[in-house]
Amino acid sequence: MMKSLQGVVVSPGIAIGRAYVYQPEVPVAVLLKVDDVEQEIARFRHALEVAKAQIESIQSRAIAEVGEETAAIFTAHAMFLEDPELLGQITGRIEADGINAEFAVQETIDSYAAIFAAMEDEYMCARGADIKDVGQRLLRILMGKEEVPLSELSSPVIVIAHDLTPSDTARMNKDMVLGFATEKGGKTSHTAIMARILGIPAVVALGQLLDEVRTGDTVIVDGGEGLLVVGPDDETISECQSRRGEDQKRQDALRKDAQLQAVTVDGHAFDVAANIGDVESACSAVDFGAEGVGLLRTEFLYLNRTTLPDEEEQYQAYVAIAEAMGGRPIVIRTLDVGGDKQLPYLDIGEEQNPFLGWRAIRYCLDHPELFKTQLRAILRAGALYNFRMMFPMIATLDEVRRAKRMVEEAKEELRSGGYSYDPDIGVGIMIEIPAAALAADVLAREVDFFSIGTNDLIQYTMACDRGNERVGYLYEPLQPTILRLIQQVIAGAHRHGKYVGMCGEMAGDPEAIPLLLGMSIDLLSMNPAAIPQAKQIIREVRIDEAQKLANEAVRCCSAEEVKALVAEFMLAVRGSE
Ligand code: PEP
Ligand code: MG
Repeated sequence: MMKSLQGVVVSPGIAIGRAYVYQPEVPVAVLLKVDDVEQEIARFRHALEVAKAQIESIQSRAIAEVGEETAAIFTAHAMFLEDPELLGQITGRIEADGINAEFAVQETIDSYAAIFAAMEDEYMCARGADIKDVGQRLLRILMGKEEVPLSELSSPVIVIAHDLTPSDTARMNKDMVLGFATEKGGKTSHTAIMARILGIPAVVALGQLLDEVRTGDTVIVDGGEGLLVVGPDDETISECQSRRGEDQKRQDALRKDAQLQAVTVDGHAFDVAANIGDVESACSAVDFGAEGVGLLRTEFLYLNRTTLPDEEEQYQAYVAIAEAMGGRPIVIRTLDVGGDKQLPYLDIGEEQNPFLGWRAIRYCLDHPELFKTQLRAILRAGALYNFRMMFPMIATLDEVRRAKRMVEEAKEELRSGGYSYDPDIGVGIMIEIPAAALAADVLAREVDFFSIGTNDLIQYTMACDRGNERVGYLYEPLQPTILRLIQQVIAGAHRHGKYVGMCGEMAGDPEAIPLLLGMSIDLLSMNPAAIPQAKQIIREVRIDEAQKLANEAVRCCSAEEVKALVAEFMLAVRGSE
């Protein structure tokens, strides 16, 4: 029976395919006594061989896809499976206590992981995550609960999950994921943002999805409508296929002019930039007509691994991205971890309110070595390409000053080490905390530019979690309150002659663009696929009329009123063409 489920639109496009239900439950062993200890040890040894074969095959694929260096994680995994002491302890426990292999594996691995976690050395500390991973693999094999991890998918599927973390998304085998649908999530959760950057159709916040779909079912993700269709009939499949074809034609038409700069009807040339996270998204940014990068999310370099990237690796990665961007200007954001971007190998630990916790610039200022390693890599890349850097989650002037001092220290370290670097690199901040928005005119004196991060600015201003659809009605970029705050930030920066970009998702929202132009924003930065349409809208607008629209919008009483106003405006603009 065909069933349609309504969720939240996060990434457009239509995907039709087989479902893969991803339920990465952590296996938990139960203590059991066994009669035949020899047979139990043989069972363990068999699981060991299966695990080794699995790791070997993942490793050869990883070498081909991500290179030797990143694939080395799996060498460490394989080494644990050869470690005589570890293996001896497991078989020893089975023998001595007459217990099942699962429990012996779990207890031994937990004690090893605890020893690693307590180590001072950051590298050794991170080995704890590796050994846990190996332990879980063994447990799954022993318990017959094998899951195909998202990195190991070998045929094209639509991923169905309760939720996906940004690490899950980063680890996905992108060639095999046609689309995804989740029970939880919101429009600006990082998983949704990554789906847009990767151009994967996705729908989130679908409720009790896992009760409705089984692995192997045919499903359709209709990203533009926020729909998941389970078990579609032939008519629905062919209707979706023809809509997919029309979508493609519309996109192709928009892309014809995407490489040209957008100029308003009254002659104002306007730069549209892209939000990216790696070389692949840099290539698609160029392809979609980006004039530069308004947000390079460096955290994705830290996500898909178990140890911190060193200075050289970061430098190489930033240079590779700048090359892929053909030398276009890049605003690179320093590490923005915490919130929903958790790195298991950092010492952030459990927090009651991770979005209000030890994250982004707060964490970096408390870890000068980690921060300065990244700053040195950015400064060195700046010697070759046009980079500016910005700090995320700034709340106070003091944080800006402390971060800038660390930039100066990093320059000094490079100078004394004989490295080339950009001594005059532009330094900006993200405005994504209401305190910073309210202090915009004070902060503007201290920096070269602002970039408004509406994804967080909205969640903090409205006190609503950006990933929780139950309070999604509050998460509304076109709220007059939000518009007023943005207007105030732009005015604060312009008073001191500083430019203001926007890199939150709002920048690519077709309804918001005329308003932002009317508020005199200087740069819009968005996911690459949104660029052609944004340029098209800019080409339809007159700045003086957009200014009137913005002034009216901030006086409205609700987002609905603002939306009606924008719709009327665009209708008039299009009617007069
Ligand atoms: C933002 O908060 O608007 C932003 C661009 O940063 P992120 O989505 O990574 O939090
Ligand atoms: Mg943010």
